[in-house]
Amino acid sequence: MPRTDEETRQRLLRATTQRVESLGRAGVTHLKKPPAAESCEAPPAPANTATHTGTSPLEILRGEVECCTLCEPLAEARTQTVFGTGNPNARLCFLGEAPGAEEDRQGEPFVGRSGQLLTKIIEACTLSRDEIFILNVLKCRPPGNRNPLPEEVTNCRKFLDRQLAAIQPEFLCCLGAVAAQTLLETTTPIGRMRGKFFDYRGIRTMCTYHPAYLLRNPAAKKECWEDMQMLMREMGLIAPK
Ligand code: SF4
Repeated sequence: MPRTDEETRQRLLRATTQRVESLGRAGVTHLKKPPAAESCEAPPAPANTATHTGTSPLEILRGEVECCTLCEPLAEARTQTVFGTGNPNARLCFLGEAPGAEEDRQGEPFVGRSGQLLTKIIEACTLSRDEIFILNVLKCRPPGNRNPLPEEVTNCRKFLDRQLAAIQPEFLCCLGAVAAQTLLETTTPIGRMRGKFFDYRGIRTMCTYHPAYLLRNPAAKKECWEDMQMLMREMGLIAPK
């Protein structure tokens, strides 16, 4: 259905507010008026390149994501992009699939019931959400919470890889089949991927069940906890077996 002028105005207002807030978080207090030709579609700066504004590589990338409309239906339908949150120098990243309704509303990943369970899992690992970084394969919510389409994954892959290149985590934990299979480009079921480490661009990568699955299947929490203990041992947070 075509957007009304008011819907378009509200969408632009949300996108602008989101952009200004993220620049504020990056310490930017003044903006220079851009040349007439400059826009969101300007060529992206490399993720590991500092700029004259002093903005961090991750914040530059966040700005590019906020402007992205590569998946037109998702960009049209989103309330806002969900870039990811946490420590930009985290040793450990958690990777989910895509924002849901609540994440789309709040602009943060894992904030609903699944998010609360993820927070408990992180805290059980003697960590906090401030110490790690949480991100998704897709930065925009697929309608009706359907799985990401292959072309959407391809479109958003460059952002994911640049986020990981900027953060440079030592460890990565994929939550659920979509995140694990997408990242590692496999169709192996999640039950056969968990319990071991993979290498993804030099990052020690493991996979476990998505918190939403654990809410539906509490019996699987035992296996998830075994995965987390394996991760903690590898990170040196608990003694080896
Ligand atoms: S999902 Fe990713 S690639 Fe697609 S529009 Fe959103 S930010 Fe762009």
